[in-house]
Order: sequence, then C-alpha cells, then structure tokens
Amino acid sequence: MLKLFNSYTRQLEEFKPLHGKDVAMYSCGPTVYDYVHIGNLRSFLFADVLRRTLEHDGYKVKQVMNLTDVGHMLHDADTGEDKVETAAAKAGTTPQEITQKYSQYFFDVIKKLNIEPAAEYPKASDNVEQMQTIIVKLIEKGFAYQVGGDVYFDVRKFEKYGQLSGNTLANLDAGARIEINDKKRDPLDFALWISNDQHVMSWKSPWSDKGYPGWHIECSAMAMRYLGETLDIHTGGEDNKFPHHECEIAQSESATGKQFARYWVHAAFMMVDGQKMSKSLNNFYKVEDLEVKGYSPRVVRYALISSHYREQQNFTFDSLSSAKSALAKIDNLVARLEGDSPLINMEKGTVPVTFEQSIEVVERDFYEAMNDDLNVPRALGSLFVFVREMNAALDAGVDPSLKKYALQALKMMISDTLGLAIEKVEMSDVDDELKKLLVERDAARTAKDFARADAIRKTLSDRGYAIEDAAGGARLKKI
Ligand SMILES: [Zn+2]
Repeated sequence: MLKLFNSYTRQLEEFKPLHGKDVAMYSCGPTVYDYVHIGNLRSFLFADVLRRTLEHDGYKVKQVMNLTDVGHMLHDADTGEDKVETAAAKAGTTPQEITQKYSQYFFDVIKKLNIEPAAEYPKASDNVEQMQTIIVKLIEKGFAYQVGGDVYFDVRKFEKYGQLSGNTLANLDAGARIEINDKKRDPLDFALWISNDQHVMSWKSPWSDKGYPGWHIECSAMAMRYLGETLDIHTGGEDNKFPHHECEIAQSESATGKQFARYWVHAAFMMVDGQKMSKSLNNFYKVEDLEVKGYSPRVVRYALISSHYREQQNFTFDSLSSAKSALAKIDNLVARLEGDSPLINMEKGTVPVTFEQSIEVVERDFYEAMNDDLNVPRALGSLFVFVREMNAALDAGVDPSLKKYALQALKMMISDTLGLAIEKVEMSDVDDELKKLLVERDAARTAKDFARADAIRKTLSDRGYAIEDAAGGARLKKI
C-alpha cells in the first residue's frame, strides 16, 4: 500500500505500523518565539497530507506535535542565546508572554490552512520532569556525563551516531562545524541539561539549582510520553535532520535500548523567488502577507502542497496564481455538477469515456500516486484529467443522476485527502437575461458581428461571468 521514503535507510519502504492499524506519529513543531512563515508551514502541511493519506488508507493516526518554548538556541547550537528569552528581552516582556502570543498565532494559522489538529500539543516547559528522568537514566547507563551543573551526551558511546544525517563522527570535521567547548569530552557531545542562573525559565535539577533542558531531549521526552518508546513515524523539516533528529535518536535509543522511530520522513527546504529565505531579504512570508495580496489561505495551502515534499520548492507569486486558477477549475466543475450550468447549442456529442469509468480511473490513479511516497503532483495530474473529462461529459449531456458520484469522488480526493475545502461557486444569479445574452452572442458570432459579440462578452463579465466555448456550445463560468 503506502510507500514512504525513509530518510534513515535512504530508501523507499512499504509502510507497516508496529501495532495493526494504529499509527504513532510525532511531528517536530514550532519554536514559539516568532510568527510561523510559509517555510515552516510547508513542513506542517506535508505532515497533514501524510496523515490524511494514512487515514484514507484506513489507519488510525495519533499525531503529537510539540511546542518548543525553552532551550532552543540561536543557530541550533547548544550554547549561546535561547531564542525565546532573546525575543522576550527584545520585546521588553516575559518569555511566557512571548510563547503565549506565538503559540496562539500558530494555532490560528494552522486552522486557517485547514490542518487537522494533532491529538496533543505538549509544551517543553510542561515536560521537564520527563526530560530529567531520561537524563538520569542516560547518566546511570554511562551515555551521559555531568560537568559542573551541565550534563552532556557522550556521542562516542553511541555507535550509530550519524546514520540519519550522514554526519558520522568520522565524517564530521569537529573543529570546523562545532564550537569548541572546554567542558565537553568531545566537541560533538551535545547538551542535555544546561545550568544557568540568569535564565527566566529555569528549573531545579539533580545537577544544579537553576537550569534548563537542551532542545533535543525535549522532543525525545514528549514523543515517548505521549506515543511510547518506539514511534511509527517521525516527521520534520530537512533542516531538523542534524543535529536535532540525530541527537534525538542517540539519546532515546541509548535510554531505552529500542529503536526510536521506524520511519523518518523529512520535507525539503523551500526557496522564495529562487532565493534562500533570510532576514536580510525579508522574504519570510506569513499567510497574512499573502492574504492582503489577494490569495486566500486555501490558495496558499494548494501552492504549498502541490510540489513533491522531497523536492526543494521554489515559492513564487506565479505559483500562487497557478494555484488560484487550478482551484477555480475545480470550483467551476463542482458548480456544474451541483446545478445547471447554462449551456447553449447543446448538441449531444460523444462522451470520451463513460462517467463511471472516469470516476474509477481517477480514484485509482490519484491514490496510487498518493501512496507512492505522497506524489501530490502526479495525483493532481490525474485529477485535472478527470476535470477535463467531466466537463466534456457534462457538455455531451450526462445522466443527471450520475453527477453525485463525481461530486463524492471530488470531495474525497480534494477535501478529505488534500485538505482543500470544496467551495461552491454560486451561480444562482444566472437569470434568463444572462442566458438570452449567451444565445445572442453565439448568433452574433455566427453572423460575424464581432463588435456585438464582444459587447455581450463585456456585459457578462461585468456581471461576473466569463464565456467558455466548449465542444457542445458556450457556457458561463464564474470569474
Ligand atoms: Zn523536535
């Protein structure tokens, strides 16, 4: 059935959960110190489409997504400034107010984008006890060591370090990549606990009176608390692979002696207008920045999911416009299927394939593509073949009782699996006058009175309709 590219083994694998039809899925969530932007959202949307595809395949998915509210340092390092505390100092407020504000923003945006809510959204700061328990275990087992009030993970004790990212100890040029820290036995060792008496968000621990957890241990603790010691799927952005996920594997597997995640699935980076997203280019678009330019969250969702998740996506305003017209094609078909779209000069043509056949073929091709490592571009390809065939079939005059099957198929693919709500185009303002104009325009064209034909086209467009010339005649289409 479903095949996924497992980043850990670097191959396409058939997906089989550990326990029957139940899937335990952990998705690295946002660090709530700033607005989530389209780059972050691409990764959350890909996890959402994965989850919806699993659900279509009959699995029951329990998804957990964390909110990182402490311990995530600038540049993903394990010394230096904490992102949340830095944002709070800059805004002259408390870390709690910062995390509250940006968590709320995150929830508002994922709702707008129609992302299904996870079963749990644990906050790192609510799970410190669980993190400390794992750290104690790692020290007892000899995988971690204490230096002053800090605790570090000893990467040389974990043989498989580097398997996910390719950054094996032999491959890593320690001096070049990692900041040298005198306290560590090896520069590649990473912090599990950091003592600090200046930090606003801090906790008492067996190692120091005031301190906070490292970013990586947070995800291990929250994933295991809510999903058990072995996850079926762990998702995240490609940029999380190293060091974050590599360290999650090392500490989790050392603590439990079990495999931590069976399938690692990563969404590739996103570029904007061919360039890397960066503060200096000011191209970290938020959903609202695109809304003010006339692109609804539904259009943004379409644009962000329509390329393959493992391919680097280049986000452009052209891609948004294409998304908008692709959705309009679907909406217009829905309107035709739901009601009477006025069509004149209807001569019964030949229907290229039967209605039933066409529905069967699209359902098969669409889900074959989705189950092939979430190949959304191919799935959309089949969908638009279907849209074309349906329009032709409707032009040729299809038995009205069959329309509801096409609508059901569209709802399942577009709304349930791709998460793009079906929007009905309102055609109720098409009155006899508009229909008459459509007939007159056809007559004008036949008489080669192009001035009159154009004038009618303009009148119709002022009323919000375009004319579409189809094989069976001309019909009105909502602009
Ligand atoms: Zn994480």
